[in-house]
Amino acid sequence: MKEGNDYPSYLKAYRDGSLSAACSRLVARLKPCDLCPRRCGVNRLDGGAGFCGSGRLASVFTYQRHMGEEPVISGERGSGTVFFSHCNMKCIYCQNYRFSSLGEGVECEPERLAAIFMEIQEMGCHNLNLVTPSHVVPQILEALILAIPQGFSLPIVYNTSGYESADVISELAGIVDIYLPDMRYGDDGAAMRCSNAPGYVAANRAAVAEMFRQAGPLAVEGGVARRGMIVRHLVLPGGLSGTATVFRFIAERLSKDIHISLMRQYNPVYKAAGLPPLDRRITDDEYADAVKLLEEYGLENGWIQDEHGDKEVETFLGENFSSMA
Ligand code: SF4
Repeated sequence: MKEGNDYPSYLKAYRDGSLSAACSRLVARLKPCDLCPRRCGVNRLDGGAGFCGSGRLASVFTYQRHMGEEPVISGERGSGTVFFSHCNMKCIYCQNYRFSSLGEGVECEPERLAAIFMEIQEMGCHNLNLVTPSHVVPQILEALILAIPQGFSLPIVYNTSGYESADVISELAGIVDIYLPDMRYGDDGAAMRCSNAPGYVAANRAAVAEMFRQAGPLAVEGGVARRGMIVRHLVLPGGLSGTATVFRFIAERLSKDIHISLMRQYNPVYKAAGLPPLDRRITDDEYADAVKLLEEYGLENGWIQDEHGDKEVETFLGENFSSMA
């Protein structure tokens, strides 16, 4: 551990004890579990599992160097992604349903998770990219506390679908430097219908506001994100993503400086195949309309995808994953 170095932020939090204190508070929230807006109330410390299906230990489906995230996340050496099993949303179009809904993966004691973090650092990745971490935040901090004395010092990217409790995110102040949240829906009806996520909009907005309060606008050094927040917005067919509502919130309630990653790689997989309008890809016009809305709301920072979205399709589809099992 590098004494006196305050980046990533968790090194200071480790030294002053605040990381350990946050971890203890979050572990206690596993019984009864209220880690996310569902507040299932199950006792995960004693083997129970709630809506997400996750118990006491975190499960990992796979971990790998990822070259296809946003350019400032992947950089030249890649982002070290850890794909956690289970999810607190149930998106009927989920491309990762094998591990998000069906729970494929391997349960990891904190020591094993810490070893994965170290492997990712040894691969030379720019950062540790925690994919769908909302239901395993305490377990991640337990592993981090074990990894730091072994020399772990990669910045953490908190890569979330955005169905979060703001008070859990507030525990990550001084621990997470880079937030990568989805703002998936602007309307609770769509969030319910497509992802079975009641109250998504209010929870998502409160959580993203807390992330921005902590991390601020994106700061890049040497072409790689050092700190800040990037909001991802996936354009869904038939206007289901409520793009105008989402952008209005960002522009009027947060900041027009926020970087937006406007994604066009929606693919009708899993249960979406027979459910119009989710049974088709988005049209060029639908994506062009979303791009126009960026301009309309004065959101000038971020990334849009080319007409095929090939790079992102390759990045996010589940077929290129290999299981740990
Ligand atoms: S993390 Fe899982 S068990 Fe806990 S409240 Fe959310 S869905 Fe329920």
